Amino acid sequence: KKNYLGKRFAFFDSWLSKEIQRKHEIELLLRHADFKEEFKLYYQPQYRSSDNTLVGMEALIRWNSPSKGFIFPGEFIPIAEETSMIIRVGEWVLDEALRQIKNWNEKYSQDLKIGINISPKQIDQEDFINWLKQKIRKSGVKPEWIDLEITENSAMSSETSMEELFTSLAEIDINISIDDFGTGYSSLSYIKRFDIDRLKIAKELIDNIASDKNTLLIVKAIIMMANGLGLKTIAEGVEEEEQLKILKELSCDEIQGYIYGHPVPADVFEREYLVKSVI
Ligand code: C2E
Ligand code: CA
Ligand code: CA
Repeated sequence: KKNYLGKRFAFFDSWLSKEIQRKHEIELLLRHADFKEEFKLYYQPQYRSSDNTLVGMEALIRWNSPSKGFIFPGEFIPIAEETSMIIRVGEWVLDEALRQIKNWNEKYSQDLKIGINISPKQIDQEDFINWLKQKIRKSGVKPEWIDLEITENSAMSSETSMEELFTSLAEIDINISIDDFGTGYSSLSYIKRFDIDRLKIAKELIDNIASDKNTLLIVKAIIMMANGLGLKTIAEGVEEEEQLKILKELSCDEIQGYIYGHPVPADVFEREYLVKSVI
């Protein structure tokens, strides 16, 4: 028995050290990455559910490392957050997303919104609001084309400074979405205190909406509450017809998910979603 446990521990030990090693490797690769060469934004369409019109897209980062190949954001974003590399990564994302939405909305005479993910670490930067204002001004993008996605947990992290943050953001006239809504601490009180535009209902809830009655009730309650507070709702990770049908019945305003389209590179997005929506 001793022997067995010993083996188990050796196995766990080597697994752990491999994890730590990979994390270090990624951290190092990130530090030395040539952002322009290795990063790309992919775009996933967002549709209004009442009439199936394209209303915008979420920008999602992709990293092709020359030595490790594709590394997904689910793996490297948390590492970037721990090491503060997220500040530089986030700046690259913002610049690129602003450039792209300006190009598309002007080219196709649209008012599409671009969803940009913002990490808590970025928000915590002393000069975040001014930095953002300046980026928007320099880019020539209309503020209403921008939709910042902030996770529920980061919105909760320090309430007082958050109140200031949301007030300042509202003054710039950009849109604010609470990402992964329904999975975090869910203190509902801040929602009506802060100037938020949209709740993004978490995929974890959408996954079970057709199979679990309690989840259905929760999503229904979220949508009703949002309606009552004058907030929009968007469901993310919608994959199945049955889920879409339910969300339409519940009057969820917008839909994002594989059922309408996967995240794709800019040229594909333009071909598949923008050229078509104009013709
Ligand atoms: P998120 O913000 O919740 O983004 C949604 C994730 O769900 C994306 O994964 C997207 O590809 C995936 N997804 C969308 N629809 C479906 C669906 O119908 N089914 C399934 N199974 N998945 C779907 P992705 O691109 O791997 O990104 C993972 C996370 O990494 C994001 O979660 C976000 O937290 C973070 N992330 C991605 N890009 C950025 C970025 O530019 N900045 C920051 N700070 N975080 C980012
Ligand atoms: Ca998001
Ligand atoms: Ca999300």
